[in-house]
Amino acid sequence: MTIANKYDVIIVGAGPSGSVCANFLGREGHKVLLVDKAKFPRDKTCGDACSGKSIAVLRELGILSDVKKAAHGVNNGVIFSSPKGTILEIRTDSQDGFVCRREILDNIIYKAAKKYVETLEEFTVTDLIKEGNQVVGIVGTDKTGKEMKINANIVVGADGAMSVVAQKVGVFEIDPNHHCLAVRGYYDGVTGMKDVIELHFTKTAIPGYFWIFPYEDGTANVGLGMLTKDVKARNVNLKELMENEITLNPTFKERFKDAKLISEIKGWSLPLGSKIRKQIAGDGWLLLGDAASLIDPFSGEGMGNAMTSGKIAFRTISRALRLGAYSQKILGEYEQEIKNELNKELEMSYLLQRLGKNEFLLNLVIDKAARNPEIRKELTTMIVSEEAKKSFSSPLFYLKLLFS
Ligand SMILES: Cc1cc2nc3c(=O)[nH]c(=O)nc-3n(C[C@H](O)[C@H](O)[C@H](O)COP(=O)(O)OP(=O)(O)OC[C@H]3O[C@@H](n4cnc5c(N)ncnc54)[C@H](O)[C@@H]3O)c2cc1C
Repeated sequence: MTIANKYDVIIVGAGPSGSVCANFLGREGHKVLLVDKAKFPRDKTCGDACSGKSIAVLRELGILSDVKKAAHGVNNGVIFSSPKGTILEIRTDSQDGFVCRREILDNIIYKAAKKYVETLEEFTVTDLIKEGNQVVGIVGTDKTGKEMKINANIVVGADGAMSVVAQKVGVFEIDPNHHCLAVRGYYDGVTGMKDVIELHFTKTAIPGYFWIFPYEDGTANVGLGMLTKDVKARNVNLKELMENEITLNPTFKERFKDAKLISEIKGWSLPLGSKIRKQIAGDGWLLLGDAASLIDPFSGEGMGNAMTSGKIAFRTISRALRLGAYSQKILGEYEQEIKNELNKELEMSYLLQRLGKNEFLLNLVIDKAARNPEIRKELTTMIVSEEAKKSFSSPLFYLKLLFS
């Protein structure tokens, strides 16, 4: 394949954020190059759970049906458990969630983008080309180690948690208060799974949580995540903690009695949206998804906001290309739109994250919700509806929780 000297847009990273952005831009006829250091299909360490927010973008791109045809676990709700062991099951029954291995899901979005844009795999971006402050291209190496420079009007950093683009524009940081570490492995033969994802705030796991996300074939994505600050302060080995949960916690010991680990246990970072990067758009560049630090600080869900950022970035980039203007003044609209769209929800999730660290409050809230159908109903609506999530901020909701 011949790579041109210059593109309208180069997108670095073909995960959900980059591939969604490429899909939208490509369909509008822009000259886009989507590069990734991996060869697709590729795995990404993840819990693999997708909620309504991701589904809405996949539907808009017309590729939800491809995901539904591929192997995936259906998710009709959530089970929460408290440190003292109370189980709260919230069923949505809307089928508006699924668990799909990233090797499959990301490849579907990437392949859809490939119909409209040029792609370059096994190409690792190492630097940016700049003219003064203006980013005007990328530098990288192909699989043979050959260095290549490619120019573009706009460079999009969709290159994940350790984003080289964020580093090279000087906004990268790991703040242990707003950063999480998590491990996950695939297991076969866990018993007692239903068509719901499970988040367990056990005594061992808090201030983090232990998860079991079931697939269609009886296997499960099992993991444990915790704020980096707490991992450091408690000198925690997450893999060991997860294995202890499975072998020592009486509930899980029984459920994992005949289960087999069928993958490596892998770990990776989650840059949380409780502190979005100090700048996510500048002269000739934008950052999406994990590169911009947009992961939900309570649930650890990052794909929804990654895909949403890809769509919002498309709108700004499309306008900039129409105007032929690529300065921060124009591209900064993306930053404002992201904040308008996500800030309220991220603030509420940050509040819930802090609540989720307190054993007393966790027991209280999960107990109350397990007993009180009205609270359960309210939580169900919030899980299903993006709009209703915003009413987490309603003082009435908290009064009901505390005094019902
Ligand atoms: C253990 C764990 C569990 C999680 N569970 C969930 C979950 O259940 N649900 C959920 O929604 N989210 C979950 N997340 C978060 C989710 O994985 C991320 O938020 C999501 O993948 C972000 O998408 P992205 O497109 O921004 O980045 P990524 O998916 O990380 O994609 C980045 C891409 O950039 C490429 N790349 C990186 N550097 C370069 C370079 N220098 N040059 C070229 N290419 C490069 C990579 O190969 C990769 O393909 C979890 C994360 C972890 C670590």
